Amino acid sequence: MPVHIDLSLCDGCAGNTESLCEEICPGDLFYRENGKARLREPSECWDCCACVKACPCEALSIESLLPASELRHRLSARIKADYILWKMYDDRGCIINQCRIPNRVVSADLTPGENTTRT
Ligand code: SF4
Ligand code: SF4
Repeated sequence: MPVHIDLSLCDGCAGNTESLCEEICPGDLFYRENGKARLREPSECWDCCACVKACPCEALSIESLLPASELRHRLSARIKADYILWKMYDDRGCIINQCRIPNRVVSADLTPGENTTRT
């Protein structure tokens, strides 16, 4: 499913020459119109969630990531200093689940050549 844009939350990354969603989308699918984000070719979206994580306004979400569910859930993300807060909404806009995923290695104990795979 393509990304959903909540135009009431999108501020168009005002002041930026290129919006964060335009900058990060690997498919170059975003553009702005009247100060709001738009998706150029929704069918070309890979569901990679890069834009969902990058949007500072939580205006972007992905629908129906759960193939086992017939409900239209949405997934949004909020970048924090050391983690990403993922929120799952039901079709009424209520949060039904959320989780924190660390997004940085905070330990400086790693030595060169050491396996840096995150767990
Ligand atoms: S990153 Fe978010 S706020 Fe900025 S233009 Fe895209 S959707 Fe709008
Ligand atoms: S989910 Fe990925 S491919 Fe789809 S619009 Fe966002 S950044 Fe682009």
